[in-house]
Amino acid sequence: MRKKIVAGNWKMNCTLPEGKKLASEVINMVQDEVNNEVDVVLIPPFIHLTGIQNLIGSTKNIFLGAQNCHQNQSGAFTGEVSAAMLVSCGASHVILGHSERREYFGETDELLAEKVSFVLDNQLTPIFCCGEKLEVREAGDHEELVGTQVDKALFGLSEEQIKKVVIAYEPVWAIGTGKTASAEQAQEMHAFIRQQIAKKYSQQTADSISILYGGSVKPENAKEIFSQPDVDGGLIGGASLKSRDFTNIVKAFD
Ligand code: PEP
Repeated sequence: MRKKIVAGNWKMNCTLPEGKKLASEVINMVQDEVNNEVDVVLIPPFIHLTGIQNLIGSTKNIFLGAQNCHQNQSGAFTGEVSAAMLVSCGASHVILGHSERREYFGETDELLAEKVSFVLDNQLTPIFCCGEKLEVREAGDHEELVGTQVDKALFGLSEEQIKKVVIAYEPVWAIGTGKTASAEQAQEMHAFIRQQIAKKYSQQTADSISILYGGSVKPENAKEIFSQPDVDGGLIGGASLKSRDFTNIVKAFD
């Protein structure tokens, strides 16, 4: 059985008091209302990690994640944060390769390969993001592009390592735009990614890896998307900033 995961990427939003209020509401609602076995990951800005971890404590099925991480253990990298620092603040997950990191901070698949391997060595679970821009989809090259991203960033890992990775397929044209991929488009790409993993490693390994969908997931469309056989949950941006919406997305698995 693959893990079902709903992760909320707050991006660069929320002051600390706002973040604590949001996290407290989500923690209470998830505890009171969610009947399913879903791992919920709260992913605030770095500076709020400890404050949010204090609220999560040992709450069952709620985890803490970070939005990025440097590929070195420590040193003269002003403004960066290491995997060991994230772990010491209570984080268990880290997003790598979000399209905003690729677009605005020049992150390449080669760099991401280093980061993925490095965070795994530090016992963090990478949530590796991949996805095509609109022009690539319109040209019909989306599978080739996503296949290359996954190949370059992940396929240098051993079979034991890749089993610990979570993949998030996030078509760039659907992020923060209100346009969602159809459930069929999501399923098609998730099945393709799983097939690539099966070819490279084994069907058993491919079947064990959670693949999340991200891109304008809302309470209204979550059920349909999550009901697809190869969709194991969601990476949620905008809707993760509203406790009611985010909780209702988690409840879409009920
Ligand atoms: C994201 O940034 O990962 C994302 C999916 O954002 P949104 O849900 O706002 O489209």
